[in-house]
Amino acid sequence: MRERYGNIIGGREDFEGESVTLRSPADGSTLPTVTYANAEKTKEAIDAAAEALRKWSSTTVRDRQALLLKLADSIQTRAEEYSQLEARNTGKTLRQSTFFDISLGIELIRYFGSTKEFEPTREIEHPEYPGTRGIIQYAPMGVVGAIVPWNLPFLIAVWKLAPALLTGNTVVLKPSHYTPITALELSKDIRASGFPDGVVNMVVGRGDEVGHSLATSPKVNMITFTGSTATGEKLVSSSTGVKKFTLELGGKSPNIVFEDADLDKAVKGVLFGIYLHSGQLCESGSRLIVQESIKEEFLAKLREGMEGMRAGNPLEMDTDIAAITTERQKTKIETMVQAGLDQGALVYYQKEISGVVPKDGLYYAPTLMTNVQERTLLAREEVFGPVLVALGFKSEDEAVDIANDTDYGLAAGVWSGDRERAKRVAGMIDAGTVWVNGYHLLSAAAPRGGFKKSGVGRELGLEGVMEFTQTRHIFVNEGGDIDEVAYGLILPE
Ligand code: NAD
Repeated sequence: MRERYGNIIGGREDFEGESVTLRSPADGSTLPTVTYANAEKTKEAIDAAAEALRKWSSTTVRDRQALLLKLADSIQTRAEEYSQLEARNTGKTLRQSTFFDISLGIELIRYFGSTKEFEPTREIEHPEYPGTRGIIQYAPMGVVGAIVPWNLPFLIAVWKLAPALLTGNTVVLKPSHYTPITALELSKDIRASGFPDGVVNMVVGRGDEVGHSLATSPKVNMITFTGSTATGEKLVSSSTGVKKFTLELGGKSPNIVFEDADLDKAVKGVLFGIYLHSGQLCESGSRLIVQESIKEEFLAKLREGMEGMRAGNPLEMDTDIAAITTERQKTKIETMVQAGLDQGALVYYQKEISGVVPKDGLYYAPTLMTNVQERTLLAREEVFGPVLVALGFKSEDEAVDIANDTDYGLAAGVWSGDRERAKRVAGMIDAGTVWVNGYHLLSAAAPRGGFKKSGVGRELGLEGVMEFTQTRHIFVNEGGDIDEVAYGLILPE
């Protein structure tokens, strides 16, 4: 592990700025020192991206894809190191960083490095003007500011970088100041793979300084943001100029279990849905909506599953329970649960983890809550922690009503043995992703994003790629008698 990281500006590593030594939330151990950038450094990074744009955007899609494939290979050779760093910096389990974050990230870069779905041009005819041709080009947006949260630092960085680069943009990426290490490592592989200097720049720092500088720079044409709904709203309202935004925001996702589901599989899916990364995933299935006829049986099975979850050091492969990444987040979870209890909620089961998890780490025990009142924050707001709220329903309609009774709309799960019913219900949920008999199954080919307060725009898939483009129409007059017809209409002689 390196001892010190700087910011990446125009291909060079810049160490000017506040040096901050990070600590692992898994066990309190010391991590490398990183350099926090300020507004001035952010401006330098934006200038570097703007300077690299003309040359980079005139390369072909196939050239860019060749570099993306090289990048995937380069990361692959160090996948174990990345997985270790990701787990240590975020406190997620090594099993998750190995088999989810890093391996899915590499696959994703390969997908964008080889997809034939994105064609940068197409041709059209203009039915009104015979003898002419239209060329439609999907041009890059330009300089993209990419703002990443602390929970999936590697995966979200590559979600943003790969499609932005494929479409010919240059990028200034701002990792979260809590968890910047794997993104900074990535910059080494980006360079080694042959991406020209200035195409990808990275500035670590606090949101209100570095993020704000991106949002107010006249040279930044687009911001792709992932984070909380509150920050997303603030970012848009404090931005200046005319910019495109895609916003991937928070969630309070429902996991609906019908009485005809395979209950053992549903139990695993619901536990995975909420307790993966201790609930610190935007799409975490934090509201269990279970049919009343099986509610007691299902809760008992969940409890059994939770009893079997292994607490310990997340850096050991067989540990199931992740740390909470920041002190601030841990306090938020404690405060929201306490408020719920004060408003009548009950703890159905809470796993005992004290004495088993590393004593200098940050942890919150997996918790299952019942009797949660409909209008309380615990029922409606994102906790972003290992807290599952169980609600009951009687009819299919009621299940859909409860699922949609939230300001968010990021993801959902539907568990049923009746595939037709599951698909029908899935089609009525206001969410960007609905899994039928599954959860957290991410694919680079599938667009993801939010309805309602969970965001605007899509990431991944062809829809996600197109977000990084703007459309240019070139009208070519091929020498027919169009001048007479068209101009005659406009300026009759
Ligand atoms: P956050 O909103 O606090 O921060 C996100 C990023 O925005 C960070 O890099 C932060 O430094 C930056 N930022 C903060 N203030 C800013 C400002 N004024 N201007 C510009 N940038 C600013 O979120 P977080 O706590 O890092 O992450 C957790 C949140 O992210 C949760 O709400 C979660 O649901 C959401 N999330 C969403 C998705 C998704 O795909 N929809 C994925 C992961 C996380």
